[in-house]
Amino acid sequence: MKAKKSLGQNFLQDENIIDKIVESVDVKENDLIIEIGPGQGALTRKLKNKKSFLIAFEIDERMHECLDTLEDDRTKIVYNDILNVDIIKEISIFPYKNIYVVANLPYYITTPIIEKLITLNVKIGSMVVMVQKEVAERFSALPRTKEYGYMTVKLNALYNVKKLFIVKNTCFNPVPKVDSAVVKLELKKENNKLVNKEKFDKLISAAFSHKRKTLKNNLSNETWEKILPYLVNNNINLNARAEELSADIFIDLSNLL
Ligand code: SAM
Repeated sequence: MKAKKSLGQNFLQDENIIDKIVESVDVKENDLIIEIGPGQGALTRKLKNKKSFLIAFEIDERMHECLDTLEDDRTKIVYNDILNVDIIKEISIFPYKNIYVVANLPYYITTPIIEKLITLNVKIGSMVVMVQKEVAERFSALPRTKEYGYMTVKLNALYNVKKLFIVKNTCFNPVPKVDSAVVKLELKKENNKLVNKEKFDKLISAAFSHKRKTLKNNLSNETWEKILPYLVNNNINLNARAEELSADIFIDLSNLL
């Protein structure tokens, strides 16, 4: 089968890497694994050994050929675009306890997929995802680095981000231009102080809208007035740019709005 570049098809060939990804997921029989982009089933086949419920979303109908034999009463493949499909409706057929995501993601839509998953109206306990190495660096970046940005803050507010291991480009067919990395995102259970996700989102979108501008210049006067006492009390430079503030500080700030 010829891989479609437009669908980000780089199929995993390395059995060790496949095993390492599957071993990074700790699920019980009554849990549900959501796989995105099963492709020819390299991960799906081994994920099935976990005996949990499994639902996979694949856009390319040609994959019926590889995936049909994997379907049974605990495993379902949905042929649809992950960005358009109603995930909650699709997973409701299973009496699952916890949800986990596992995916070798199609790189052209990594960020929209992650954004969709973290804003879904159900809790996803952890996600083990393969992304481009540069994206993994952005996800786990520290403040004041060039990789740190809107997506870092958005993700780190809800999840602990761990870089697990690097995967060389030669582990795929066709061979992509860049190396990849597997990251594990674990839902922050305790101490999650985030009160209003919408306000938080609006705040960080504005704060990072112009990277070179200061926080003050990126925010409306009204927002700035509301957060000013916090900045003063916490000795934060009033000329700071968004990239200097941690996800925790943004959470505190959004709770003031
Ligand atoms: N899991 C397989 C593996 O590791 O070998 C394939 C991974 S490949 C990087 C990405 C997969 O995502 C492809 O099978 C591709 O067809 C699928 N895909 C691309 N865009 C998609 C979308 N919008 N919704 C669902 N699947 C998509």
